[in-house]
Amino acid sequence: MRVPGIVFASRALLPDPSTDQALRQVANVATLPGIARASYAMPDVHWGYGFPIGGVAATDVALGGVVSPGGVGFDISCGVRLLAADLDRDGLRNRLGGLMDILGHAIPRGLHRGAVWRLPTREGLHDILTGGAQYAVEAGHGVPRDLLRCEDGGIVTGAEPARVSARALERGLGQVGSLGSGNHFLEVQVVEEIYHEPAAQAFGLRRDQVCVMIHCGSRGLGHQVCTDHVRLMEEAMPRYRIAVPDRQLACVPVESPEGRAYLGAMAAATNYARANRQLLTEATRRAFESHLGVAVDLVYDVSHNLAGLEMHDLDGERRQLCVHRKGATKALPPWHPDLPPGLAETGQPVLIPGTMGTASYVLAGVPGNPAFHSTCHGAGRTQSRHAAARSIRGRTLRDDLEAHGILVRGTSWQGLAEEAPTAYKDIDTVVEVSTGAGLCGKVARLVPVGVVKG
Ligand code: 5GP
Ligand code: MN
Ligand code: MN
Repeated sequence: MRVPGIVFASRALLPDPSTDQALRQVANVATLPGIARASYAMPDVHWGYGFPIGGVAATDVALGGVVSPGGVGFDISCGVRLLAADLDRDGLRNRLGGLMDILGHAIPRGLHRGAVWRLPTREGLHDILTGGAQYAVEAGHGVPRDLLRCEDGGIVTGAEPARVSARALERGLGQVGSLGSGNHFLEVQVVEEIYHEPAAQAFGLRRDQVCVMIHCGSRGLGHQVCTDHVRLMEEAMPRYRIAVPDRQLACVPVESPEGRAYLGAMAAATNYARANRQLLTEATRRAFESHLGVAVDLVYDVSHNLAGLEMHDLDGERRQLCVHRKGATKALPPWHPDLPPGLAETGQPVLIPGTMGTASYVLAGVPGNPAFHSTCHGAGRTQSRHAAARSIRGRTLRDDLEAHGILVRGTSWQGLAEEAPTAYKDIDTVVEVSTGAGLCGKVARLVPVGVVKG
């Protein structure tokens, strides 16, 4: 290990080493060339591909620091968007079922089941890969204000569609504006508690308000980009004399042709994910407008699977770092220059899904974050999908949820069972530990009333 591994957790949140190798993975990541300060794990940490999910690793670019697709994950720029409706809980009385039916029809999901935006040709994808949510809004899918509430204004620079393979483009064609499967969802929620009134106000949230949380990413396109570039890096690594303890940690220097190629392709997939969430937002807005006559505003959109070049203070020096956040959320503190207008005093909104049966949270960045402005991204799994599906039947779970007033519009019974709330850590504890460790601050707690499951 070149640096220590630092795990932010309580004893109860630590992964069980008999079934989950995440702590071993934290140590493995600490061996990467150029890694700065520490290999970090957030309280929701669990086993992932090479890097743990809930892992943060920054590498020093000028010191030969590496970039690794495993540190981003297969679902590039997977993330969460929160929408706030101009409606309180009471306004949904007798109307929730109808709303969920409309959303259930309007939100494409599952594998190969269509999308909001059908693109005829690969060329049609180019503008999405370079323009992200900004392109979607320019094409009429949203309002300019949406972009002010997207991380990076909804578009990352440096996208290189030429580094995205034909196979990846093919996979991405029919999926712009679709949830995907399993862990991805669109959930109608109600704000149950506000912890920080000024921040909630700045984010546009009030108690009892109806919200929609969307969790999805870059679909087959991002997955293929990851697969392709892991393979290219595996071939290139011997040339850079890089050896890693786990071949899933394939990596190359940021400042290498292969490193630059990955970052260009990753940026393109990131823009795809941002456009994807923008299109699902529009589909949601249409459902709220047609069924309830209610307007819906964007609270924020933030990724939790991403690597990016950022400037940070390291031992009193400004250094350019490649910060990998995989299953971890950027959490910019108040007054950070990258914050959008109106959010300087509050810090960046951080959106944390819990499970479809428990709470979800809105948090905010705080000063003095010890992990390169990063925090948790969810509850984090304690059970594999397979184990979860063996523990409960999908129909039983649906009935349980509906008995608790949470309407379910699923895709497959097995997919639903794989996402059973019992397969995850306790979200309230994860959030307490995250705030207690100084990673973020609490703003609001939301509870689900209806879920459209991928
Ligand atoms: P991931 O990006 O790691 O697949 O998932 C992020 C987090 O989403 C998980 O750790 C889990 O806490 C949360 N999650 C998964 N399914 C649901 C759901 O249906 N509703 C909500 N609110 N959260 C979910
Ligand atoms: Mn994802
Ligand atoms: Mn995700």
